Amino acid sequence: GCGICVHKCPFNAITIVNLPEELEEGCVHRYGINGFVLYRLPVVKEGMVVGILGPNGTGKTTAVKILSGQLLPNLCGGNDSWDNVIRAFRGNELQNYFERLKNKEIRPVVKPQYVDLIPKAVKGKVRDLLKRADKSGKFEEVVKELELENILDRDIGHLSGGELQRVAIAAALLRNAEFYFFDEPSSYLDIRQRLRIAKIIRRLAESGKNVLTVEHDLAILDYMSDIIHVVYGKPGAYGIFSQPKSTRNGINEFLRGYLRDENVRFRPYEINFSKKSERKSQEGEILVEYPPLVKDYGSFRLEAEGGELYIGEVVGIVGPNGIGKTTFVKMLAGVEKPTEGEIDWSLTVSYKPQYIKTDYEGTVYELLSKIDAGKLMSSFYKSELLNPLGIPELYDRQVNDLSGGELQRVAITACLLRDADLYLLDEPSAHLDVEQRLAVSKAIRSLMAKNEKTALIVEHDVMMVDYLSDRLIVFEGEPGRFGRASKPMGMREGMNRFLAAVGVTFRRDPDTGRPRANKEGSVKDREQKERGEYYYT
Ligand code: ADP
Ligand code: ADP
Ligand code: MG
Repeated sequence: GCGICVHKCPFNAITIVNLPEELEEGCVHRYGINGFVLYRLPVVKEGMVVGILGPNGTGKTTAVKILSGQLLPNLCGGNDSWDNVIRAFRGNELQNYFERLKNKEIRPVVKPQYVDLIPKAVKGKVRDLLKRADKSGKFEEVVKELELENILDRDIGHLSGGELQRVAIAAALLRNAEFYFFDEPSSYLDIRQRLRIAKIIRRLAESGKNVLTVEHDLAILDYMSDIIHVVYGKPGAYGIFSQPKSTRNGINEFLRGYLRDENVRFRPYEINFSKKSERKSQEGEILVEYPPLVKDYGSFRLEAEGGELYIGEVVGIVGPNGIGKTTFVKMLAGVEKPTEGEIDWSLTVSYKPQYIKTDYEGTVYELLSKIDAGKLMSSFYKSELLNPLGIPELYDRQVNDLSGGELQRVAITACLLRDADLYLLDEPSAHLDVEQRLAVSKAIRSLMAKNEKTALIVEHDVMMVDYLSDRLIVFEGEPGRFGRASKPMGMREGMNRFLAAVGVTFRRDPDTGRPRANKEGSVKDREQKERGEYYYT
């Protein structure tokens, strides 16, 4: 068998193109003969949050499974024992880790990526699940911190995505381990909840635990990580873990597409936030004026100010979960009837719901060509939408077999292919990686500008909100009880109002222009709060 693959692997029957020679030595796992190959692993460090940043399909979850002991890496050969893994990592920081893992001295805890799958595996009430997980005696504390009091007696099967996420994180925290793995902890959460989770994860590390986390929300990853690994490669084919880097450098190198220490350019272009074309909102023609709207469900009431929407603009919708954003969008889409006020426009609306149903029998191509076969052939749609979102690669796939991120891209494409005056997209970033989020943002902006249409986008990722929006509608109130929606306002005013409610300030990174959350209580944080400038400074 292959005992020392890290030094020299005899199982290199398949040559991997575009790979530097020395990488063959770091081959950790290969799924089948022509399957995906993972090179190198991240470090695990006591008292640190190690962040992992990279595209979907480059082996992040595979690495989590290996380090948590769920997957025995085959070392790209026929390896069948942890002893060989330990030998293969001799001299590496991970040698000792794998020894302790093998001897069951450490029992890592994993918050899995796909929380949607939890109800399929676990039945019963939230309280019972968390009580079973509780080995730390911190039940009350964790329930309070993650704001789960009101859903303890709910059935797992009846939870929203954001509730499932918080239950899964709570279950991990209650287990009392030394090593914690959080695979995409921010999915479905609003910005306040994301920051709260980020703080909890930081505290875990500060109390001496080892934490590894995969995260696509750059502001959150930045906020919680001590060091970063960038994963690069070819999604679905191979993935390579970079050296550990400082958080700021790691994220900036990722955005630049160039790893300095490794001297590797993994993307031909840089991602830059500051060069965004200037906003020309409120100069154009008004698409529609909508009246004040009220929706009263009895237990929940939403009051929305009336406002106007301009042709060609993208309006971001921000605010906490459970505050009525989806309800508002549904009223504009004509799916929900307002209790007060009336939507009596003759506009056509195309709507992508937050939760995407997958009961379609057929391929991606069949689904999309039914909407508009002509646009699939048009060079405009190819260059503005289909290619940037990687849709042609998915044409032959069954819609039912798509991963969360693939389905999201197809659903966004389906929404944007329809002819409409107004496009409503509810949380388009869910399950997407950073490049896909930016590709979606760019596609929406350019389609609205060039086709002279209007879009409203509900979004929690601050980077994406910033990149995407011309103006903002800000939701405030008390989640689950009442919500108030502002009329559309300028970015600066809207961001300040939104972030003041969350209590977090942002600055721009001088090199890349990306938004960075200030650490609470830092000099910048205090200065900006004093001036009431939560965002642009
Ligand atoms: P990430 O977490 O970075 O999105 P994953 O580690 O989940 O990536 O997957 C990396 C690649 O490995 C993907 O192309 C995926 O399809 C493939 N893969 C994952 N699990 C398996 C498996 N059990 N068998 C074969 N291929 C797999
Ligand atoms: P958001 O999109 O901001 O997360 P939603 O608009 O989905 O918020 O929900 C706002 C509140 O309205 C929640 O408390 C939700 O449970 C409640 N709600 C949503 N739809 C209904 C409905 N059909 N009947 C009763 N309550 C509802
Ligand atoms: Mg993953």
